[in-house]
Amino acid sequence: MGFDLGTTAVNVSGNFTNGIPIINYPSNINMSIKLFLLLSFWTGIAEAQSYRRIHNKAILVDTHNDFLSKVMEHNFSLDADLKGKTHSDLARFKTGGLDVQFFSVWSDGNQKNPFAFANRQIDSLDAVIKRNPAKIVKTGTVKEILEVIKENKIAALIGLEGGHQIENSLENLDLLYKRGTRYITLTWNNSTDWATSAFDEKTNPAFKGKGLSGFGREVVQHMNKLGMLVDVSHVGEKTFWDIMETTTKPIIASHSSVYTLCPFRRNLKDEQIKAIARNNGVIQINFNSGFIDSTEMRREDAFIKNHQAEYDSLQHATNSEYIAEEMIHNKYRNESDKLRAPLALLIEHIEYVIRLVGVDYVGIGSDFDGIVVPPQQLDDVSSYPLITKALIEKGYSKKDINKILGGNLLRVLKANEIH
Ligand SMILES: [Zn+2]
Repeated sequence: MGFDLGTTAVNVSGNFTNGIPIINYPSNINMSIKLFLLLSFWTGIAEAQSYRRIHNKAILVDTHNDFLSKVMEHNFSLDADLKGKTHSDLARFKTGGLDVQFFSVWSDGNQKNPFAFANRQIDSLDAVIKRNPAKIVKTGTVKEILEVIKENKIAALIGLEGGHQIENSLENLDLLYKRGTRYITLTWNNSTDWATSAFDEKTNPAFKGKGLSGFGREVVQHMNKLGMLVDVSHVGEKTFWDIMETTTKPIIASHSSVYTLCPFRRNLKDEQIKAIARNNGVIQINFNSGFIDSTEMRREDAFIKNHQAEYDSLQHATNSEYIAEEMIHNKYRNESDKLRAPLALLIEHIEYVIRLVGVDYVGIGSDFDGIVVPPQQLDDVSSYPLITKALIEKGYSKKDINKILGGNLLRVLKANEIH
């Protein structure tokens, strides 16, 4: 810290234009500058303490974390120190002030038995919870969540990502509800038999105009009956509007950003954001640089092209685009870091929703451990407090920040519960 600006003080006290030495109090001026800087420093510390205090007092809910997929790929344990390997582990959740985590249980339907694959992922989370009862607890209701937070523990819930896991059976849906599933993203990038995805609707004419099938509508109604949130992240626009027509409960977008700011195929258009607000639901903003910064995808394509041969052979060896991408980004860390979107852009997405429909309809769905290029400064789950800091700097009140960090999502979860 540069407290001593002696040279500046001497300059300030030098002769003025008429050549008459009017002021010559170098040491005094130096003193007052020092005092001023010291005060600023103290104010800085106080501000840092206050944003952390506001952050820690708020209930932070993240509706999308893909750590369980990492477990399937690498057999990682959430209770190990995974710094440098993943975005998440139990200790860093704590540092980041996280209170409630929806763990994503993903499937693209290409597994031999997606229902069993989902259960294996839930088993892996249950094992961590069993080993760490003082740190993390499985919850299913807002009441249970609040009790767990009061005990200074993390509340864990499940979100199914893909819809394939129910294998077209409402009985399977019931069983997954019993294991802690509280939302389903009705599709992933690929469609199910009963709902079309954003990717398929945009890229394959065969899916145009399909949306939700009759069974798809039954799934939505059954979820409404159970008290399970319907999640529209990844679904196509036709499916989205079919869901809005069918659901009797507020819905969520568990990890989606704003199309107007970044026209990526599965980001939400203004009309969709307005419809979610009318439905009293919530949009949980995705952190992925490619979803918040409209220049990132083009830059990322160029980055991959630079390492095309290596990328191709990794993809061939791992049989996974995602793992190959991750390996290339890890290997060329400096180049990859240049792709990261500014944190201010993420805040812009949050603010866009607020300006369009109000502060009651936006929250956090990071997609940590499912994304390869997080925004600058948001290195992992320990970085959440920087979002609170940025919101304070933008002038948001404590009340509004509480809503954004988790209050809005808990309202929607409560509204879905069966009383
Ligand atoms: Zn996703």
